[in-house]
Amino acid sequence: MTEDEPQDPRIAAGIPPLGTLETITYISDELARVVAPNPSPNTLDGTNTYVIMDRAGGAALIVDPGPVSDLHLENVKTVLDSENVEAVGIFLTHHHLDHSETARLWSREFGVGVSAFLPRLVFGIGKVLGDDDRFELGNKQIKVVATPGHVHDHLAFQVDSGHLLAGDHMLGRSTSVIAHPDGDLEKYLSSLAKVRKLGSQVILPGHGPEISEELSEKVIEYYISHRHHRLAQIVSILDQEVPINVDDLTRKIYGPELPDALFKPAKQSTRASLTYLVQREIIEVDEEERYNLV
Ligand SMILES: [Zn+2]
Repeated sequence: MTEDEPQDPRIAAGIPPLGTLETITYISDELARVVAPNPSPNTLDGTNTYVIMDRAGGAALIVDPGPVSDLHLENVKTVLDSENVEAVGIFLTHHHLDHSETARLWSREFGVGVSAFLPRLVFGIGKVLGDDDRFELGNKQIKVVATPGHVHDHLAFQVDSGHLLAGDHMLGRSTSVIAHPDGDLEKYLSSLAKVRKLGSQVILPGHGPEISEELSEKVIEYYISHRHHRLAQIVSILDQEVPINVDDLTRKIYGPELPDALFKPAKQSTRASLTYLVQREIIEVDEEERYNLV
């Protein structure tokens, strides 16, 4: 921790403790969150599956079905049955298995297609999704917002009810991982700027609690300054100690409190920062993958 480390505005505002999210929560009348039973250091409270409903038309869209789990499927069916709506499609924010693993199973179960950015994830009558694609669900419009950075195929979905389903672009607790080399910091920062331009809205992350409309822009600002702080931290470490490899650098940045389970994702984010700095010729890398300031 350094003095100028940006502070997450959610800490002061208060946030439900890890593991206290209800399995089924109605974010609004026509939008439910169902938490999958896969909590871990990487998935926080578990993966959030969202059900966007059109009650009048009896239809629902499932976003990120999550991991294979009979219990999770039953919980989502409970929402559909109790609201008298039928699934009409499955959308995926990205390919990571904690979001997509059960997509094909559920596609067969509900007789619907799977739509995603990557053609290999599309299944049945689903579609390849791209930036700014728009879909109607009753009187709601759902807009695809390409948000590469966490991984290259990442999409968010904006519902005109004032909600953004953000997948792993933003999390309900702490910050997201840039899953280098699939993830990319420059793209991630551009995607954060793009979401900021959409204005205040309730952000519904792929893991953890919702981010309120009031806090949404502040949290995006925090995410952007957090990434710039990490870059500055790396330059300052390299200013004192060179050459240094990725493992040692990751330990220095995150400190001894980093749980072993989070070392790999932390290292991926560190690599993403290093790649960003190398591309800008601020630092250089030697043949043993040790880093120096230029
Ligand atoms: Zn992910």
